[in-house]
Amino acid sequence: MTNILEVNNLHVSFSTYGGEVKAVRGVTFVLKKGETLAIVGESGCGKSVTSQSIMRLIPNPPGQIKDGSILFKNKDLTKLKEKEMQKIRGVDISMIFQDPMTALNPSITIGEQIMEGIRQHKGISKNESKEKALKMLQLVGIPNAEMRLKQYPHQFSGGMRQRIVIAMALICEPEVLIADEPTTALDVTIQAQIIDLFREIQQKTQVSIILITHDLGVVAQVADRVAVMYAGKMVEIGDRRDIFYHPQHPYTKGLLRSVPRLDKEGELLPIDGTPPDLFSPPAGCPFAPRCDFAMEVCQRIYPMKTFIKSEHEVDCWLQDERAQKLMAR
Ligand code: SF4
Repeated sequence: MTNILEVNNLHVSFSTYGGEVKAVRGVTFVLKKGETLAIVGESGCGKSVTSQSIMRLIPNPPGQIKDGSILFKNKDLTKLKEKEMQKIRGVDISMIFQDPMTALNPSITIGEQIMEGIRQHKGISKNESKEKALKMLQLVGIPNAEMRLKQYPHQFSGGMRQRIVIAMALICEPEVLIADEPTTALDVTIQAQIIDLFREIQQKTQVSIILITHDLGVVAQVADRVAVMYAGKMVEIGDRRDIFYHPQHPYTKGLLRSVPRLDKEGELLPIDGTPPDLFSPPAGCPFAPRCDFAMEVCQRIYPMKTFIKSEHEVDCWLQDERAQKLMAR
């Protein structure tokens, strides 16, 4: 599969009165055409900041992309001017946020809102854009589309509103869709419907999806590959089966032990402790204070990447034979 997006050594910081918060610290990954890559981790791990950086939605100031590149169609998005970025945002790369209400204007009909994006970016006629909006509402499973186009957001349920937001994000036929906690604000049965909808849309449109979530249940159902973030670093990445059945990083193992599973009985174990302060992140492994396997080298030096197999990488000294040598120093 070809790579549609390549993020290399991304560093993002925020200036605050207390100092510089290093929210993303050297993140590297690729997104392949037609796949769903889930980025998981606790709140504050840098997953949302990573996705907002791809959209160049980090408010500057206080935020700043300090280093690295984000390659999309031979362009480095970190270098583009805002005007150039506006031609990509919502057209080639779209984003869906957690709360559908914040993405919808309560005083404008959903038809106008869906059509606005495509008319603005593609300059097509009102009739053409209406036709596309109708098709899009059908694709996201909204019945009586013709009548529904004339209604306002408050006339829809939470699940339906999220479907409308997805329709808005897809109307320009983007190549990349970033969904930031798209099911968190919805109740469980509606969550399942939206997850099914993602799968269906991907089969029909071949859009590549970055799914940001803390919900491993959602990940298990839709992701092809999973990236685990901790304290601004991507500590493990692999295909879904590797991450769920052969996790290598103690943090990934801890995350999996803390969620209920149908195929395994046993006690749910939360991960004790808290992530480090990102004002002054440690030089070594940031998980060391919470890790049962921490060694002396872990405190001093951040682990190098180890390839478990070609598509499965982990940042942990336990997997790296160089750890012994470094401990002897
Ligand atoms: Fe634990 Fe060391 Fe691996 Fe970090 S590098 S997760 S502290 S064993």
